Amino acid sequence: MFLKGKTALVTGSTSGIGGGYAKALAAEGAAVMINGFGDAAEIEALRQELEKLSGTKAAYSNADMTKPEEIRQMAADCAEQLGEVDILVNNAGIQHVAPVDEFPEDKWNAIMDIICNSAFHTTKAVLPGMKARGWGRIINTGSMHSKVASPYKSAYNAAKHAIAGFSKTVALEVAQQGITVNTISPGYAWTPLVENQIPDTMKARNMTREQVMNDVLLAGQPTKQFVQIDQIAALAVFLCKEEASAITGANLSIDGGWTAQ
Ligand code: NAD
Repeated sequence: MFLKGKTALVTGSTSGIGGGYAKALAAEGAAVMINGFGDAAEIEALRQELEKLSGTKAAYSNADMTKPEEIRQMAADCAEQLGEVDILVNNAGIQHVAPVDEFPEDKWNAIMDIICNSAFHTTKAVLPGMKARGWGRIINTGSMHSKVASPYKSAYNAAKHAIAGFSKTVALEVAQQGITVNTISPGYAWTPLVENQIPDTMKARNMTREQVMNDVLLAGQPTKQFVQIDQIAALAVFLCKEEASAITGANLSIDGGWTAQ
């Protein structure tokens, strides 16, 4: 339990990879604030599970990552309810699949706001406290699409490349202050985000569900297996250790070999 006494804030953690980060950080003793949307009873069950895992308090914020004022309030609520943020995981994300000339403007803006702009607002809110304490970990969820592109995902690829660039910049700014900033870039992991894009991809590429699974999602993943949420969360936990204090400004792939090609 090496994270006892530390506070973690994980955006987009009511589901999928974010939920995995929250549980893994709580299992090491961190007080975790989760965030995101979903069924109220399921969110409360997750919050209670985190308290059991950590042996300390856990909290929930329903802040919308498209709204800077709500993001600032989330950071303030976390400081008040659990303590100032020591570990920030920017993870919230959505996807939309469409050719660029048909891409809806509202979807473009939402993807840029939720994946990229929210990380600026959360980082700006919690960095002064990390600097004052001389310790911090910021982990941004990238994607193989922060390094390479796939067609029909223009907003997502742009936002993920942007968050990886932002991550490197902040890493350089705080490199001598005990704060590391890294991007974790998973390949396809089996989560609701991936499942939900299958219908649109079927439409955009005129394919069956099986063809999308095998010929699109896992086609570029040399292991031919989805990355497991627990594997991604374990990497985040490692980045919080002192042994990882020299890892900063990195964009770490955990993608079954996707970006080796
Ligand atoms: P998911 O759909 O299971 O979870 C997304 C989370 O973001 C949910 O908790 C949701 O409520 C939250 N969210 C969405 N819009 C929000 C908003 N406006 N404000 C606050 N929270 C919001 O998806 P996931 O697959 O677990 O994705 C998590 C992250 O991992 C995303 O950044 C995604 O791009 C990235 N990623 C996923 C994969 C994959 O294969 N699943 C691969 C690479 C990267």
